Amino acid sequence: MKTEHIRVVPLFRGKPSLNIAEVAAAKHVSDNELFEGEPSAPPVSARLVYKGGDLINNVEVFTIYWGKKWSTSASGKTLMGKLNKFFTDILVSPLIDQLAEYNNGIWKIGHGKFTGTTVITDHAPTSSVTDAAIQKALQGWIKDKHVPPPTPNTLYFIYTDPNVAVHMGGSASCSSFCGYHNDISGNVFYAVMPFPTCAGCLGNKSVFDALTGTSSHELCEAITDPVPGQGWYDDDNGEIGDICAWNFKQVAGYNVQLEWSNAQNKCV
Ligand SMILES: [Zn+2]
Repeated sequence: MKTEHIRVVPLFRGKPSLNIAEVAAAKHVSDNELFEGEPSAPPVSARLVYKGGDLINNVEVFTIYWGKKWSTSASGKTLMGKLNKFFTDILVSPLIDQLAEYNNGIWKIGHGKFTGTTVITDHAPTSSVTDAAIQKALQGWIKDKHVPPPTPNTLYFIYTDPNVAVHMGGSASCSSFCGYHNDISGNVFYAVMPFPTCAGCLGNKSVFDALTGTSSHELCEAITDPVPGQGWYDDDNGEIGDICAWNFKQVAGYNVQLEWSNAQNKCV
C-alpha cells in the first residue's frame, strides 16, 4: 500500500508534524482553539532528506480558476489579477533563490515563470469536489488544450470558488487543510487552493494575503517534492513548508510562508 505523504497546508494553529491521519482526526478542533496563541514552533529535529525522485528546476506556473464566480464579479477579477501578478513576481524572487540549497545532481532549482491563466466554468463545483474529480478534470483540460501541455517544469495551480469543499485523502478543506499539491502518475504536477472562507484558512489575514501565504507553501513544496514523498521529505515532519506552517515573511511585497532550511537548521 502506498504511504500517504503529507502534502497539505494544515489549518492555522495546526501542528506542523501532523500526518494525514492525524489531520483527519483533528477535524473536531474548533475555530476558537485554532486562534489561540502563536503559530507552532518548528520541531527541533526537522531534517529534509532527499528520497531520490524528481524536483522542479525552473517552475512554470499556469493558474486555473475553476468556478463560476471568478469572472462574474469585480472582486473575483481583481483577485485573479493580483494572484497572477503574485506568481509573476515571486517566481523570480529570493523565495526561489533560497531553495537552491536543495540542488542535487541534475536538479538545479532556479527562477521560474508565470506562463498564463484561464477561467473554466464547465462542470465547476459549487459545493464540493474530490481530488479524483480534479485530476479527471485536469486531464480533460490538457487533452482539449484548455491549458498548456505538462512539461517536467509545469505546475498547474487550481483555485476553486468560495464555499466549495475540496476532499482529499479522507480530509476536507476548511475542516482539516487549506490547500495541497499532488501529481498524476508522477508526470503532471498540480496544486489545489480552495477559497479561504473559514477562519482556520484565513489565519487573521485578508483573502489575498492568506492565498499568497498558502500558495507559497505549496509552490515551494511542489518544487522540492513534486511527487509527494519522493523528493525532499522529512519522514516525521513532512515537506519543506509543513515544518514552518503559518509562519510568514514579506518577499517582493507579498505575504509568503517561511520554508525549512537544512543548511541553517531553521525556518527562513
Ligand atoms: Zn505542505
